[in-house]
Amino acid sequence: MTEREWRGEREVVLERDERTCRRCGTAATEDPNGLRLYPVGDVPRSGTVHESALVAVCTPCFASLRSEPDGSALPDDEALFSLVRETTERQGVTVSAVAAFASLATKLPGELAAATADSDPVSIPDTGYVRARREVLLAIDSVDSRLDHLYAIETDALDPNLADPLAEFAGTGTKLQSELRGIVALGECIAAGLGRCHGCFGELEADVDRCGTCDLERRDVADWRSADGSVDFEGLFDAINETLQAASGTTEALTDRTTSVAEQLRGG
Ligand SMILES: [Zn+2]
Ligand SMILES: [Zn+2]
Repeated sequence: MTEREWRGEREVVLERDERTCRRCGTAATEDPNGLRLYPVGDVPRSGTVHESALVAVCTPCFASLRSEPDGSALPDDEALFSLVRETTERQGVTVSAVAAFASLATKLPGELAAATADSDPVSIPDTGYVRARREVLLAIDSVDSRLDHLYAIETDALDPNLADPLAEFAGTGTKLQSELRGIVALGECIAAGLGRCHGCFGELEADVDRCGTCDLERRDVADWRSADGSVDFEGLFDAINETLQAASGTTEALTDRTTSVAEQLRGG
């Protein structure tokens, strides 16, 4: 695959991210190749990516996020178990990040109303929404890259006693990913319902399809409009809470699946 260096406001991103990898915490001074910029969310296929969609990561994390499984080599038991364990750990990080993002997103309508009531209508409240969304998307991508490696394993070559729990583990992990993505999309609908860009939180004119600041396409909230045209924020909050509960159940199931895989690997 071609590895593209993302243009954009490199210095702005590095400064904002405190010259530290947002995936593993490595400081720029510890990375001999310097930090890379990794794009999250829907970004243009070419051209400049706005800083709100760029994250600083170290070179090994960038490689890990971008690496594609070759599928040819069957990992030994130890490599397999560490892949399963890393997937579970990264998914745990993602669940926490999603919960933090959801909490910020559901506070947006109230905070924005309070800010608008203030004397300065130009100021955009820095609620942490943009950063929280970025970190969630990075965490989700991190899990995706681990799951890709799991799915690439030739399970036919494995003992069925191991292949089956492994397939169940991957399936449960994928289900959790989809629930977490759903929560992010609902949170983005809250921002969009407030007339804001769901990526950079910039104000959107009523008649534009794309954000003038970061070029993201406006998130459609037609499904969440009440008969009078207003956005049903309560409905969005309920949907977020329901999906969070479902994700919590799936997380428990994932822990059980991890245990099953571990038992097979140790027993075999
Ligand atoms: Zn890193
Ligand atoms: Zn934007």
